Amino acid sequence: MKKHNFNAGPSILPREVIEKTAQAVLDFENDGLSILEISHRAKNFQPIVDEAVALFKELLNIPEGYSVLFLGGGASLQFCMLPFNLLEKKAAYLNTGVWAKKALKEAKAFGEVVEVASSADANYTFIPKGYSIPTDADYFHITTNNTIYGTELLEDITSPVPLIADMSSDIFSRPVDVSKYGMIYGGAQKNLAPAGVTFVIVKDELLGKVSRYIPTMLDYRTHIKEGSMFNTPPVLPIYAALQTLKWLKSQGGLVQVEKNNIAKATLLYNAIDNSKMFVGTANKEDRSRMNICFVMKPEFQHLEADFLKFATSKGMVGLKGHRSVGGFRASCYNALPIESVQALVDCMNEFETNN
Ligand SMILES: *Cc1c(COP(=O)(O)O)cnc(C)c1O
Repeated sequence: MKKHNFNAGPSILPREVIEKTAQAVLDFENDGLSILEISHRAKNFQPIVDEAVALFKELLNIPEGYSVLFLGGGASLQFCMLPFNLLEKKAAYLNTGVWAKKALKEAKAFGEVVEVASSADANYTFIPKGYSIPTDADYFHITTNNTIYGTELLEDITSPVPLIADMSSDIFSRPVDVSKYGMIYGGAQKNLAPAGVTFVIVKDELLGKVSRYIPTMLDYRTHIKEGSMFNTPPVLPIYAALQTLKWLKSQGGLVQVEKNNIAKATLLYNAIDNSKMFVGTANKEDRSRMNICFVMKPEFQHLEADFLKFATSKGMVGLKGHRSVGGFRASCYNALPIESVQALVDCMNEFETNN
């Protein structure tokens, strides 16, 4: 049966990315060796990294003065690598969910941390607004898409201090004004590649300003200087990332990808809002296009397990909501076709009619 992959991460990738990556595992560039068994310093691997960096810059329209890095350790390592490199005295954080909170916690080991606002009391169902960012902070950290709660900050906000964004789950889902950010980072496994590679886009002039010793591996300058080749990078995930970047370009770039994402999210949110049985959990104006969270209305809550079973029988995968929210989460990343969203909507309607 055809599967509709709503997994939150690791998650769906374009079919052609999987096929090209599988081919490279069998025989990399018809060279008689698998990509799994070549040196990262092989002559035919360097162009993979170079092209991936070039496509990052092209698709996101990254201005001069920024570096693009491919590192290991996941977004979670960036939670401490960021303050290691950029926090001298004080940093500001917006607390919009568990990931934001984990980032904030790590920063506390390096200096004063100001939580400018939090939606924790409302189980992170909205993104706080109207807060003020301390102008003496070294940076202001946000999480643009809150994967677990289905909220998303779709605006490139203006910050008086360098703006740092964890874009793990919405990178490449819309055009971004990178010039408004000091740094953007994320784990690749939501919208870009299999797990194992972490991307970092950093404004070079922000580096080298803290007084502490930074271990070599944790110093962004090390990786900038060595072109992400200081040590062995995650070769296969970088190869897959390149295939996704090419796919994004072939779709018409991020303007078109955003249109597709809006169409998918609108289709599903409309179905939720018109339903007698289901209801969305996130504040409407902060709704994520990537992770669409919904529950059953109180009078139908006893049917949640039945609906999951029904959806599974129709080929739906990964719909169970995160344990801290419950209900359902349909992750609609770039690679998810609108046909899968339509199949989910049909499934919801059918279940509602039958019950
Ligand atoms: C998944 C996720 C993370 C954690 O990423 P790892 O690569 O597993 O460390 C961090 N932030 C956000 C927003 C996420 O969705």
